[in-house]
Amino acid sequence: MRQPLENGRVTIARAADTVEYPARFQLVAAMNPCPCGYHGHPTHPCRCTSSQIRRYTARVSGPLLDRFDIRIHIPPVDKQELMAMQPGESSAIIARRVRKARNIQYQRLGNGRCNVRMNTREIETFARADKAGQHLLERAIDHFSLSARSYHRILKVARTIADLEGSHTVTSAHIAEALQYRGEQELTIFVRPNIPITSLG
Ligand SMILES: [Zn+2]
Repeated sequence: MRQPLENGRVTIARAADTVEYPARFQLVAAMNPCPCGYHGHPTHPCRCTSSQIRRYTARVSGPLLDRFDIRIHIPPVDKQELMAMQPGESSAIIARRVRKARNIQYQRLGNGRCNVRMNTREIETFARADKAGQHLLERAIDHFSLSARSYHRILKVARTIADLEGSHTVTSAHIAEALQYRGEQELTIFVRPNIPITSLG
């Protein structure tokens, strides 16, 4: 799984020959927070032991998880909220916004490439954040020991958030949003302003 995720190609080696196929795809996956599914639920108790939860989450390896650019914890929807829910934006409107952002990226990178395909040099050129954004990212890297891969992936996601907004500059708000998509609760707390980093322990 890691090779095609990383370079968009899959190699199949047999005794006689080796063939390479294109394998550029978008991987979307979902999992429960624990075997019973209620860990972190506001009202329903979770029946799992901490070692059961550890075993369950360990089934997805750290290096694989690190390759998911966007990881979101989805809390249960409250009944009242569900009943009162107003219809959101239509898919057609969202698709238009996505198309516009992709066009910006095609023009910037050429050859029908979008942000996920940026190489390191392009990331440094096009996804470099403003001063406040760089400062925030530096602090996050130090505090959470983020890998070089995470760093580049956060910048790509932040560049895309900026493109969706039609912003030329990647700002600290874009970096903060991209950091929240790393899926770690501590990071979500970290990027909220006014919380001193020392209080995170
Ligand atoms: Zn549970």
